[in-house]
Amino acid sequence: MHFVYRYCPRCAQPLTVGPFLGARAHCPACGFIQFQNPKVAVAVLLTHGARVALVQRAVIPRIGAWALPAGFMDFDEQPSAAALRELYEDRYAR
Ligand SMILES: [Zn+2]
Repeated sequence: MHFVYRYCPRCAQPLTVGPFLGARAHCPACGFIQFQNPKVAVAVLLTHGARVALVQRAVIPRIGAWALPAGFMDFDEQPSAAALRELYEDRYAR
């Protein structure tokens, strides 16, 4: 579902566009900014004693860098489910 606000969801003032923030609608009264393309992501902090599980990136950007298992959430996916999926995908990515 795609929401486009005409009025501020915080204070009900009409949203305006420009001259700053590019094409993002924003509320001149309270500072709310309407982001229409959020990237919601999860990361997994898996520990064993003092050790932390890392994965080595297999895709751009930063191929070969070590990182926490992480990735973008799918639409309508719960964070815990996304975390488990990313952990599984990163484990079996190679
Ligand atoms: Zn507002």
